[in-house]
Amino acid sequence: MTCDKFQAFLPDMMLEPSHVSAAVRQHFAECSACRTEWNELEATMQLLDEWKAPEPSPYFDTRMAARLRQEKTSEAPAWWQRVRARLLFDSSLHFRPAMAAALGLLLIVGAGTYEEFSHLNRTPPPAPAVSATVKDLELLDSNAQTLQQLASFDETDATVGPAAGANSSSGGNSY
Ligand SMILES: [Zn+2]
Repeated sequence: MTCDKFQAFLPDMMLEPSHVSAAVRQHFAECSACRTEWNELEATMQLLDEWKAPEPSPYFDTRMAARLRQEKTSEAPAWWQRVRARLLFDSSLHFRPAMAAALGLLLIVGAGTYEEFSHLNRTPPPAPAVSATVKDLELLDSNAQTLQQLASFDETDATVGPAAGANSSSGGNSY
């Protein structure tokens, strides 16, 4: 074994000497090069033991608080963060039903497309594919009606609660 290979055992020699084989310990006892490595590592470990993290300056907390305030007010968040905040926290009466309806519409259109696709896979006469498209159009139409109904709900709600209107106009300050 070369000295390099013995020196790979140095950390073990320092931390868990009992886990190191007698041959390795013997080499460290006899080889001056490896002994030097050992002494340097030991000195480094002792320095680390003595090292203490510096005390924070007396104004650290004050400056940290000021910095946090600055961060909060400085930069406008990215557009997607604003959208996300709006989705999660905005209590606007207009937004959520419209969003839910839009998502539902997407799901229905997607399902219709899948139905059409599976019809094609089973190679039926062309008529079912057409009827699936017609069904999609009917669903779209009924969804438009649902959207209109939701819109009318929103209007009645908005007249009942003036606070909600003010809330939705204030926009991004909802954190
Ligand atoms: Zn050696």
